[in-house]
Amino acid sequence: MNTTGIFFHYQDGERLRDFPEALEGILSLDNVFFYDAFYPLKTPSSFDLETIPIDIVGQVHTSDMIERVSKSPSLEGALLSASGTVAAAIRIWNGEIDNAFVFTGYGDHHAGSDFFGGGCYFNGAAIAISELRRCFKARRFAIIDTDAHHGDGTWEIFENDEDVLYTCFCSGSYEEKNKNVNIQVPWSVSDEEYLGLVSEQFLPRIEAFRPEAIFWNWGYDGTDGEYGDIGLTPGSHVLFARELKRAADTLCHGRLIVVLCGGSRRDLARHLIPNVIRVLAG
Ligand SMILES: [Zn+2]
Ligand SMILES: [Zn+2]
Repeated sequence: MNTTGIFFHYQDGERLRDFPEALEGILSLDNVFFYDAFYPLKTPSSFDLETIPIDIVGQVHTSDMIERVSKSPSLEGALLSASGTVAAAIRIWNGEIDNAFVFTGYGDHHAGSDFFGGGCYFNGAAIAISELRRCFKARRFAIIDTDAHHGDGTWEIFENDEDVLYTCFCSGSYEEKNKNVNIQVPWSVSDEEYLGLVSEQFLPRIEAFRPEAIFWNWGYDGTDGEYGDIGLTPGSHVLFARELKRAADTLCHGRLIVVLCGGSRRDLARHLIPNVIRVLAG
């Protein structure tokens, strides 16, 4: 059984309004730890989610870009989102947890070294990788991106990095560069076809690459009825989660960090997020 960390901060907006209440039944599990930033009436503890210092953000993003984000009303949420991913990575390396689910409000894959957009401000996975390299001399990582859209920010950050395997699943066609790979997904796809792409295109690559941890940029915006609808059913995400957890358990001591990306519907969030976390903790 894996020990799972959940990294959470309260945020405005519709989609996560049912949280953390919707995690009922999960938070009481012995192998689940809840790290939160603004829990009402709580006393300080080792389970607080602290904001990372801005100079850590500067390991990935230019000072000019940080300045631009600082002027936006989303700075606090953007920082807490990235902080969750960094904290998850560090606590995994410290041996406190095996895998993690990070509630981001603003992240990740449209944030490049000097640009941002599409609801992304800082690239939490990239900042976490930078911190793991700096603090623990870790080196090789895999990022799988199943958000419906192309992860232009993550692509740009790692296009010259031989030690990060970035596999982006989207409808676009992008030429492979170093360890950046784009897997083209049809505009309309069945769960089975998509799962086939994961097992034929992603799993062999990651088995050969041998990462020390896997980051999963998980968006559910490709679900039927969402803004990036490619026809996936709600149940598809649990199938992906099982596949990726199995890969992490086999290849890298269970080190899997799920970073919430696209998706807008509150009813889907309420249903899908607990199901994905249950796979992590199973
Ligand atoms: Zn998206
Ligand atoms: Zn892509």
